[in-house]
Amino acid sequence: MSEKKKRIIRCLSCSGYAWIEDDDGQVVDCDWCGGVGYVYRDEKDVDTRIPEADYPHVADILEKLEMERMREIGYTGEAKKPWEQAIRQRPKDDD
Ligand SMILES: [Zn+2]
Repeated sequence: MSEKKKRIIRCLSCSGYAWIEDDDGQVVDCDWCGGVGYVYRDEKDVDTRIPEADYPHVADILEKLEMERMREIGYTGEAKKPWEQAIRQRPKDDD
């Protein structure tokens, strides 16, 4: 019962975009968050990547953060993030 609750914050490296431009101006997946755009932050302010296995558990939170971010930047397009793909791949016998 001693597990501390981690927060999820916007990735500082890509600001939630999930991708960055490298030195050549090429768009590549953000290395820091693994293309998610968000990372865990623990009590010591240490950021860690959200493991793929956690996507289904944090999808609702990520979705909310993403909507906030899109409102902020006025983005109306569609960007499929890894956690959304993970949900679609979820087996049906989960319930
Ligand atoms: Zn990132």
